[in-house]
Amino acid sequence: MAVERTLSIIKPDATRRNLTGKINAVFEGNGLRIVAQKRIQLTKATAGAFYEVHKERPFYNDLVSFMISGPVVVQVLEGENAVLKNREVMGATDPKKAEAHTIRAQFAESIEANSVHGSDSLENAKNEIAFFFAGTEILP
Ligand code: GDP
Ligand code: MG
Repeated sequence: MAVERTLSIIKPDATRRNLTGKINAVFEGNGLRIVAQKRIQLTKATAGAFYEVHKERPFYNDLVSFMISGPVVVQVLEGENAVLKNREVMGATDPKKAEAHTIRAQFAESIEANSVHGSDSLENAKNEIAFFFAGTEILP
């Protein structure tokens, strides 16, 4: 197995409900190390660019509005198979379909306000990490 890095975002529904620490405890309890982290306010331009891959989807405008509705915590998680591991720890996009132990099953409000983002491939993880972090901000 390879040590990987993945990009995580704790979304505005979770920062609003003061869940950052509880979510980070789930990452750490599953062997994912938080090697970079910052709390930021996304702009419409930044959120729109980050989710550009979804721009033809019907939920795109709502998603961008949601992502700028409050602060987010952007993070780099590191660990064995971190990309897939984080997707497992997050659970399915729709919290109603997520397994009980996952972050989304425990904390998400809806399919949109689903508490966390995680990169879905190693290639996307590299691009998404570079979108938010300079190399000097990542401290393993
Ligand atoms: P993820 O990789 O599990 O985060 O899911 P996607 O990449 O497919 O979608 C990105 C984000 O868009 C999701 O995490 C949700 O916040 C939102 N989203 C996905 N599907 C829907 C939907 O059907 N309706 C709404 N309102 N939002 C959605
Ligand atoms: Mg996705």
